[in-house]
Amino acid sequence: MDFKQELIRLRNEYTQRRDAIHADKWHENQAVEKDFAEQATQCENDDVLTSLDQEASALVMLIDNALLRIEDDSYGHCLECGKQIPGARLQLIPYAEYCIDCAERAEEHK
Ligand SMILES: [Zn+2]
Repeated sequence: MDFKQELIRLRNEYTQRRDAIHADKWHENQAVEKDFAEQATQCENDDVLTSLDQEASALVMLIDNALLRIEDDSYGHCLECGKQIPGARLQLIPYAEYCIDCAERAEEHK
């Protein structure tokens, strides 16, 4: 598998998703309803959109970092322990920064 191609494809996908969310938000802000119940619903939607937006932005950033690591030849190595990240993991998550051990350890410390 060509990880660079895959990362670029994913990047396009998430960038489009993020832009779509932005367009959505803009649209909602243009049509502010006076009715309180409507407003509450809009706020909730906005929260969901904001978290989706942040998620997409965070992924685009991870993908950008992975592309940089391809450029400087450090791609596929765990940022924590420096070991090679297994190919199976990279196929699932091409922008993975940590090997499974380190990723699990980070989860535990949350
Ligand atoms: Zn590691």
